[in-house]
Amino acid sequence: MTYEIAVLKGDGIGPEVMAEALKVLKALGTPTLTFAEYPCGAGCYLDRGDPLPAATVEGCRRADAVLLGAMGLPHVRWPDGTEMRPQVDLRFQLDLYAGVRPIYLYAAAHTPLKGLAAGDIDFVILRENVEGLFASMNGGIQLRGEVAVDSMVITRSGTERVVRYAFELARQRGRTPMKVTCVDKANVFRSMAFFRRVYDEVAADYPDVERDYAYIDALSMYLVQQPAGYDVLVAENMYGDIISDLAAGLVGGLGLAPSGDIGEDAAVFQPSHGTAPDIAGQGKANPVAMILSAALMLRWLGQQHGDSAATSGAERIEEAVRTAIGAQGVGTPDLGGTLSCRALGERIVRAL
Ligand code: NAD
Repeated sequence: MTYEIAVLKGDGIGPEVMAEALKVLKALGTPTLTFAEYPCGAGCYLDRGDPLPAATVEGCRRADAVLLGAMGLPHVRWPDGTEMRPQVDLRFQLDLYAGVRPIYLYAAAHTPLKGLAAGDIDFVILRENVEGLFASMNGGIQLRGEVAVDSMVITRSGTERVVRYAFELARQRGRTPMKVTCVDKANVFRSMAFFRRVYDEVAADYPDVERDYAYIDALSMYLVQQPAGYDVLVAENMYGDIISDLAAGLVGGLGLAPSGDIGEDAAVFQPSHGTAPDIAGQGKANPVAMILSAALMLRWLGQQHGDSAATSGAERIEEAVRTAIGAQGVGTPDLGGTLSCRALGERIVRAL
């Protein structure tokens, strides 16, 4: 099959890591991919006055899938002081409710924790992507320079669909035991008690999958102490945002953390990291998170279209990454190595 991929390179290290991901995808051979590039990001705002032009959103809707580098620059802001964040706006516009963040330890040397081997950390965070505390985005209240309020919004339909996605994902992963952890603060907030109640209602449809519960504060400790004990975790938007970075730190940092933002009929795949202005333009960016996001994209295309060539493309990329960065000290500077972004991309292409 042939797929059209919309490419949004973005700002900072976005174009650098995207270049390596495109090389890897082209080196695969199958499935056949065509790429259409669209402008987007803080740089696009400076050029055209709009960080997310309507033609870009249309291009993303038309495409079979979207690959996104990273967006935003700390010095480019709206008058209210917030940053450009077209990558988040796109989630709302395309209703990409499921934020899928796999956390996998590729080499023992990457984790700051003791006594773990490659593969010992292997779980997926499912972040609800379009409501929760982020429902206040572009809203919220600031009163007379005295009070500011953002609200947590949890709906039954929004929670049901993301929790169902989590249980389906646990079945697909097929671990023993299969488990979905509900991450909340149900001891304090009504919104979170409601999130847990809806979780329980959906869980009743999956008796083969273990139920598990953790308050967000305690979970932050458990993830560090016993990361091997998790399979799939489902969380409200802001909690999912925070634990994604914590979890990335367990396996080597943001440069190794891919993600997919998935809706009913559209999906955007991007690294969990931002534009890293501190290292942009220096060839120091780790392209692996972007390359693994491209693999996630192929896995999703494979599922959507029943296309085994796409699924096996995803597996081949993951295997090539394992080969390329499995040894201690091999990689970009964030992994303790000396390779440039381009050299690591080429190493992964050779491993393919
Ligand atoms: P960041 O993720 O850009 O950087 C945090 C730290 O991680 C930095 O030290 C950076 O050098 C390092 N890092 C990140 N990606 C790396 C990689 N691939 N290889 C090696 N090191 C890497 O987060 P930040 O500094 O908080 O934000 C910078 C900008 O990015 C801001 O404008 C922010 O709004 C934006 N941002 C965008 C996204 C996105 O596009 N999805 C996500 C987060 C932040």
